[in-house]
Parts: sequence; structure tokens; C-alpha cells
Amino acid sequence: MTAANRTPMRLSPVQHRFRESLLGKLSTGVYEYEQVDRCLCGSTSSALLATEDRFGIPVGTVLCRSCGLCRTSPRLAAKNLPSFYNEVYHGLHQGITQPDPASVLFRVGQGRAIHSYLNDLLPDGELRVAEIGCGTGSVLREFQAAAAPRAVMLFGCEFADSFVAVGRAAGTDIRGGGPETLRESAPFDIVIMSHVAEHFPRPVEALREVLRLGHPGTLYYVEVPGIMRIHRKPEYGFRFDRYLTLAHTYHFTLSTLAATMARAGYEIVRGDEEVRSVFKAEPRGHPALTPDTADQVLDYLHWLDRSWRVRISRARHEARPFAGRILRKALGARLYRKLRRLA
Ligand SMILES: [Zn+2]
Repeated sequence: MTAANRTPMRLSPVQHRFRESLLGKLSTGVYEYEQVDRCLCGSTSSALLATEDRFGIPVGTVLCRSCGLCRTSPRLAAKNLPSFYNEVYHGLHQGITQPDPASVLFRVGQGRAIHSYLNDLLPDGELRVAEIGCGTGSVLREFQAAAAPRAVMLFGCEFADSFVAVGRAAGTDIRGGGPETLRESAPFDIVIMSHVAEHFPRPVEALREVLRLGHPGTLYYVEVPGIMRIHRKPEYGFRFDRYLTLAHTYHFTLSTLAATMARAGYEIVRGDEEVRSVFKAEPRGHPALTPDTADQVLDYLHWLDRSWRVRISRARHEARPFAGRILRKALGARLYRKLRRLA
């Protein structure tokens, strides 16, 4: 596969540098591709949805015709992922070369939002909270602040060394590596996986490992970018091609996430198509049958492509920086900044 010159997403100079470096690693064989022919449900019947991601990196996106779960194939080989997350991921995705304690992986306020989503389900007393793929720990610290005055003990794990170091310096107990690094401090009352499960190369195995961190009453908060909500996401420009990244091995709907979690021994407590969801352990759980999901995903992507409502959202989104530049030129930078603060 070869990379296109244009990229679906506009990139900063830092992101361009990381993209070039990644393409170099792929073309010289430092990083390899791997094919994932079989879905988690066992089916090999699939439909090709895309041949590159938002950065114009040549990876495939396929939909399982049997269960509706989307996966990246061919994808970056699992054996190259530790190096990818340590050296490429943050520079390419967020344009971050050196994190600080305020660096967030998803968005500011995510820890408060998770606390509020879980609040009515939380047990009384002190809480032990762990986060998988916690970055610098900013989500954990926000969760703790939102839960005050209740005592909350924080634990996290993260693959990127620079994020681990910064999080530890901020006083949070962060281990370098995956969920297994948290086992000695388990069990936890709450386990957070915010924008993490879609990165697992072998999700069922990884989710089973995470299950070992809990007790029978543990709540598992799982948030992934739901494929059925792209029409509400300005961060993707309301477009499927900007939703895709080679870092995501699977793309979930609420029902394909619940089926994947069930394969690993979880049962859903609540969830929506964003996807925000809460699970608990249910070792006897079975994947719910979702015979219509593949058609629903295809119908949705077709609608996303053609809907006038989405086209208008897209046009407004793309016109905003252009209109801003014109106004700034006409009014001068100071007056423009003043007006933006008032708006
Ligand atoms: Zn499937």
C-alpha cells in the first residue's frame, strides 16, 4: 500500500513530521502491516469501508458482515505497537512532543464527566479507582476532585514513558505498561477505560486481563468513539474518513462493544451510542445476538455521506476558520480577539 499525498485531516507541522517518520518506518520495514482476516465473532465475511485513515496512512477498515463489528485490516502489526505508542502516537495525534501535567489525551473535563456519569452507581466510602491508558493521570485527578470530600485513591498505567514520568511527578501512582502492572494493587472499585478499548489489538484477551483487577461489585467505565455518532462530532469534521485512525484496531457501536465485552466476561449496566457505558463482571455472560448491526452501520454510513443536514454541518465547520481569517484581517487582531471573547 502507498500513502496518498493529501490527508483527509489538516495537519500541523509537528503532525506532518510524525506522519513522514511513520511512513518511513512502514516503507523500510521497521514497522510492518498485519492482516486480520477473522472477526472476533469468528466470521471471515467482510465489506471494505476505507483504505486509509485520517492522516492518509494506508490501512484498511472492514465491516464484519456477520456481526457488524468494524476492524482495521491490514493494520500496524501488534508487535510494533509499544514502539508506536512510545515514539509516534502522541506527536501524530495531538501534536504533543513533550507532555506536561495538564496534557490531556481526550478532553479537559473528561474525569469530571466520568464521575458524573457514574455518580448514582458509586458505592459508599473510600474509592479505589484505576485507569488503563491514563496518560499523565489528568482524568484520574479530575475524578478525585469531583468526588471530594470523599477519599479516592488513584492508580493508573500508561505505555508512553514521557507521560508516566510527568504523571508521577504530579503525584499520581502511574505504572509504565499495561493492566498487568496494576495487579499487585488490585482490587479496584472503579476501573476506567476512556478511549482505550478501541486500541487493543486483542481486545477480548486484554479485557479479560482488566477483569482480574476488580472484585464482584467493581464498575468498569468504558468509553469509545461510537461509529454511529460521527454526525455529531466536529472533531471529526462530521466525516467518516476523519474518524478513522490506524491507532484504532476496532470501531464500535454500543451493541458491538457490549458483544465484545460479553466475550471477555462482562455484562452491560448502561450505555449509549456515544459510546459511554458501564459494565460489571458476569462470567456466564454470552454475546447478545445483533443480527441487524452490519446493515445498521452500512445504512448509517450511507446516510452520513448523503444527508443534507450533515453536509450543512460540515460546510459550516469548514467555513469557520476561513470566516475567522477574513474577520481578523478586516477588524485587526485585537478587536477580533475582543469580539471572540464576547461571542
Ligand atoms: Zn463479526
